[in-house]
Amino acid sequence: MSTCPCCNQQMFLSAGKNRFYWYCSSCRQEMPDLISVMMTARQRAKRTRVFESLESTPQVVGAR
Ligand SMILES: [Zn+2]
Repeated sequence: MSTCPCCNQQMFLSAGKNRFYWYCSSCRQEMPDLISVMMTARQRAKRTRVFESLESTPQVVGAR
């Protein structure tokens, strides 16, 4: 579980449009899920690196 950065109360994980967000019943507003945002950014960076490495790999098609 996560705690609200504003009031330090426990937040509830709610489902939104194609995403999850934390909802604080104390503040009565949703809080951005910073952890998942950071993880998503890392995953994107990883994927980009993979694609870059694939693109930089010499073409071996037809070189058997
Ligand atoms: Zn709060």
